[in-house]
Amino acid sequence: PPDIEQLGRASWTLLHSITAAYPSSPSLAKQTETRNFLSLLSKLYPCHTCASDFQTWLKEDQNAPRVSSREEFGRWMCEAHNAVNVKLGKERFDCDRWEERWRTGWRE
Ligand code: FAD
Repeated sequence: PPDIEQLGRASWTLLHSITAAYPSSPSLAKQTETRNFLSLLSKLYPCHTCASDFQTWLKEDQNAPRVSSREEFGRWMCEAHNAVNVKLGKERFDCDRWEERWRTGWRE
């Protein structure tokens, strides 16, 4: 399998890019799909200790996915990423800047 760091960088790029492209006012169906996606991701992520810890984190009430708008979902993903940063002894990212990093600075 690809190494855990390379897999992680690629995965965070995908995940933050999904939040950047998320609607400001998603339909209820889209919100449900998004929750299902995150739940499946936590089961299928191809690093088993990563997946297992992410599942545990997701199950805590205060970490339930917030998917009712792009702004909320982007911040939620930033917090999820920070939880992994803290676990690995990396710096926390300032979540006031998630959009600058992943949306406004990003052009096709
Ligand atoms: P990354 O953490 O990959 O970040 C990439 C870029 O995102 C950074 O350069 C920065 O510009 C930006 N960024 C950083 N933090 C944030 C944030 N909070 N919000 C928005 N943008 C941010 N690795 C393990 O060794 N053990 C694990 O248990 C583990 N679990 C993981 C679980 C998941 C769900 C994922 C997706 C990855 C996991 N990883 C794990 C991988 C780990 O998070 C990193 O991707 C990897 O260590 C490479 O780190 P990096 O320093 O290159 O930057």
